[in-house]
Amino acid sequence: MPFPADYHLHTPLCRHAVGEPSELAAQAVKLGFREIGFSDHSPMPRDDFDDWRMKLSELDEYVAKVEQARRDHPGLVIKLALEVDYLPGHESWIKDLAGRHLWDYFIGSVHYLSDSWAIDHPQMLSRWKEREPMEVWAAYFERLTLAAESGLFDIIGHADLCKKFCFYPSQDCTPLYKRFLQAAKSAGVALELNTSGLRKDCREIYPSPRIVELASEFGVPISFGSDGHAPDEVGLNFAEALDLARSCGYTHSCRFTKRRRELVPL
Ligand SMILES: [Zn+2]
Ligand SMILES: [Zn+2]
Repeated sequence: MPFPADYHLHTPLCRHAVGEPSELAAQAVKLGFREIGFSDHSPMPRDDFDDWRMKLSELDEYVAKVEQARRDHPGLVIKLALEVDYLPGHESWIKDLAGRHLWDYFIGSVHYLSDSWAIDHPQMLSRWKEREPMEVWAAYFERLTLAAESGLFDIIGHADLCKKFCFYPSQDCTPLYKRFLQAAKSAGVALELNTSGLRKDCREIYPSPRIVELASEFGVPISFGSDGHAPDEVGLNFAEALDLARSCGYTHSCRFTKRRRELVPL
């Protein structure tokens, strides 16, 4: 069986990735993938919000590059998507983005706990040292739950990104996980198994086995993503992600087409 689709791939338009969509697609073909999806960091309402995403004026260029990859690799199914930051108050902006192209899916991600703190940004690491891990994790999962409930997303990305730098709470986080997963189940949102955590300090797939186990119990469907920011990251560690999914009882992953979901056997 080929690997499930790698639905989380970036492009140089976000200013911290290398390899054009066509090059990443070539790597996917080489690895035997049948399907991938580009989900680059979406524009913000203000281009100066931060410096790690495409500008709004580049959105059409992004779509054109994905379409070019489709023409270059007709045997590979290539989905058009965005990784969209969820911030409370951005709902109408996210709806505006959704209407601009024929997207296959939106990954809703929480990177920002406030307008000025992206918790996964290495340059903002000192902010972690000023706060209790549990306080941050609780605020993070609260925002993630709002993202799931918003109905704006098809997939929730890297659900425990707050573990990236290993600031772990000593308290039991199960209630936070359950609340989020209940919201995901009710809203019909999928959970992403994101292998990039294995390449970070936490050395673990996002989210943790505990969360994937609970997600399976709650009946939340899953998708897979490498969060690749370079051709050699396409499909990286998918065997581990597949093992994790299967060990938690998953038999299917999601496919999205123009924001409609179907289940595909693993
Ligand atoms: Zn990125
Ligand atoms: Zn992300």
